[in-house]
Amino acid sequence: MIELSPQIQDRLRGAAVGAALGDAFGMPLEFLPPRPLRELVVEMQHGRLPAGHFTDDTEMALALAESLLAHRPLNPADLTGRFVSWYESNPDDIGIQTSTILRRASRGEDALKVATELLKTNPDAAGNGSLMRCWPVTLAYWNDLPQLMETSALQSRVTHAHEDCVNACVVANLVMALLVQGDEIPAAISQALELAEHPLNVTERVEGAPRKTRNELPNSGWVLHTLESAIWGLTTTDNFKDAIIQVANLGHDTDTAATVAGALAGAAYGLSAIPIEWRKLLSGEWPLGSRTFWQDVGFINLADRLAG
Ligand SMILES: [Mg+2]
Repeated sequence: MIELSPQIQDRLRGAAVGAALGDAFGMPLEFLPPRPLRELVVEMQHGRLPAGHFTDDTEMALALAESLLAHRPLNPADLTGRFVSWYESNPDDIGIQTSTILRRASRGEDALKVATELLKTNPDAAGNGSLMRCWPVTLAYWNDLPQLMETSALQSRVTHAHEDCVNACVVANLVMALLVQGDEIPAAISQALELAEHPLNVTERVEGAPRKTRNELPNSGWVLHTLESAIWGLTTTDNFKDAIIQVANLGHDTDTAATVAGALAGAAYGLSAIPIEWRKLLSGEWPLGSRTFWQDVGFINLADRLAG
C-alpha cells in the first residue's frame, strides 16, 4: 500500500472524474458541427441522455478499470470478457471497430488475433476507440512508467491494433502520469514523447497541437485528431473548465475528445479544480442494466482503489 501525498491523490481523482465529466459534457454536442466562437456551450446540457450522463467512452474505461483491479499485470482475456459482457448488455453507443471485434470475441474468438487480422484487411483503421478508455491505466501505474507503457499498448491491441492507436494511448497516459507526478504541462508532453521514443505520426500531431487554431482541428473519430484536440485543449487554456469547454465545442467526436482532455486536465489541475456544479450532475449506469448509478464519488473511490 503506497501512501499518496494529498496533491497526487487529488490529481489521480481529478483524472478519473475529469474523464467522465468530459465525456458527459461532450455528449450533447457529438456529431454536430463546431460551435461558433461567440456561441460556445459553457454548461452541461442534456442531449440523447440527461445532462451530466457519461457514454460508452466511460463505460469501456470502467470495464478496463475493473479488469485492472482484478488482475495485474493486465490480463487481455479478462479485459475482453468484460468488454464482451458490456457489448452484450446493449450499450447505447458503440464504435464500429469495437463492435466488430467484440461480436467475434463473443463467439469465442481471440480479440487480440481478430484485431491484428482486421488491421491487415483494413490497414488505415485507426479510430479513437482505445484512446477514449485508456485513462485507468494511468491510475494503476502512474509511478511505474515501463508498466504503464506496456499496459496502455496492450489494452489498445485488444480492439485497436494500429500503431497510431497504440502509440496515442501510450503517449496520452505518459503525459497524464507525468502531470500526476507534478510536471508542468509542456515538460510532461516533451518528456512523454521522449519516453515513447518519438513515435511516428503521433509526435507530429502532439507537437503541432499547441500552435493550431480551433478551425484547424477536424476532431473526427480518427485517433490522431482526438489526441491532437485533447493536447490543444490542455495547452491553450489554463484551467480544467476552459479545457473541456474549448474541446467539446470543436464539433464532431466531441465526447471522446473531451474525455481525453478531461483526463489530462484533471491530472494537471486536480479534483479540487473541477467545478462542483458539474460534479453534482455526473451520472451513469454501471454495469448496464444493474440500476446502479455512478456519481462523482464512484470515480473518486475507483481512483483511490486503482492507485492504492
Ligand atoms: Mg461516446
